Amino acid sequence: MARQIQFDTTGGPEVLKLVEVEPRAPNAGEVRIANKAIGLNFIDIYVRTGLYPVETPSLMGSEGAGVIEAVGDGVEDFAEGDRVAYVLGPKGAYADGITLPAEYVIALPPEIDFETAAASLLKGLTVQYLLRQTYAVGEDETILFHAAAGGVGLIACQWAHALGAHVIGTVSSAEKADIAHRNGAWMTIDYTRESVPDKVREFTDGAMVPVVYDSVGKDTWADSLACLRKRGLMVSFGNASGPVEDVNLAELNKGGSLFVTRPSLAGYADSRERFEMMCADLFDVLISGDVKIHIGQRFGLDEAGAAQQAVADRKTTGSTILLP
Ligand code: NDP
Repeated sequence: MARQIQFDTTGGPEVLKLVEVEPRAPNAGEVRIANKAIGLNFIDIYVRTGLYPVETPSLMGSEGAGVIEAVGDGVEDFAEGDRVAYVLGPKGAYADGITLPAEYVIALPPEIDFETAAASLLKGLTVQYLLRQTYAVGEDETILFHAAAGGVGLIACQWAHALGAHVIGTVSSAEKADIAHRNGAWMTIDYTRESVPDKVREFTDGAMVPVVYDSVGKDTWADSLACLRKRGLMVSFGNASGPVEDVNLAELNKGGSLFVTRPSLAGYADSRERFEMMCADLFDVLISGDVKIHIGQRFGLDEAGAAQQAVADRKTTGSTILLP
């Protein structure tokens, strides 16, 4: 038998239940993976609360890392015993193991351990497309990145620093500011008590920034637009404080012909070729040491609800993983 987290209705962390099931053998094109570590992402909270609707009952979790236990017919790229990670496939990573199509699986280089992989695949691929594709961050550019001490944030601070950029990161406490600085942030702003546009104006001598990466959503939308220089790009990629609604396009005109995009990882890693290219880029910065994964919290699989609550309550730094 294997344990997995499932939920029958959307709601608070208490809806997550640990149940025992018979592991499913892989069908053609699928593999069975024994999880060694599971990545917890803010998106899991959107799914549990119903912000991102799924059919219930549903499984939970989008990424993990482990060892292939069995392969289905027609799978040629993987074999039993391979060290792998997976992302973007069907929900169900919060479990002892998962059976899923091989197209969502990537072989792990020997230098990357399971915990690092589970803590960084979804978040690191997100940073890959944000900094290298959505807006190609260049040397000596100054960028604004919200929630800089979070899982995605700490990877972004280090990767942008390695690209030669100056990151202004927002955080909610002095402790988080310190962590962001130690991970490559040039300046930090405590957005719970400081004016973000005023601080950005001060740090940039009035020039403002060409791009803002905003995963906080509702609470930061207006301030983020106010931090952009003319024709700057607003990248709204998350809803930690709630979704951005009722956008008035005239605001983009008023800000100086601003651009806005609302990207997702699925929209960028939308073919096997692109997925592999993005993984190769991420693995390069992990292996070179340009990006080190900070695992701030480890929880047991049976503590999934508490783990999600800690992230939702802004009590975490860096990545959070579950251990089966
Ligand atoms: P984080 O570890 O970054 O946790 C979220 C952080 O957001 C918190 O630690 C907190 O940092 C900040 N925050 C600001 N306001 C709130 C609020 N009202 N409630 C809760 N948190 C708040 O999570 P992840 O690294 O997993 O994800 C970061 C963001 O990126 C999420 O919004 C997620 O949805 C988004 N994302 C988007 C993807 C995409 O492709 N579009 C893919 C992956 C992630 P502080 O206390 O410093 O304010």
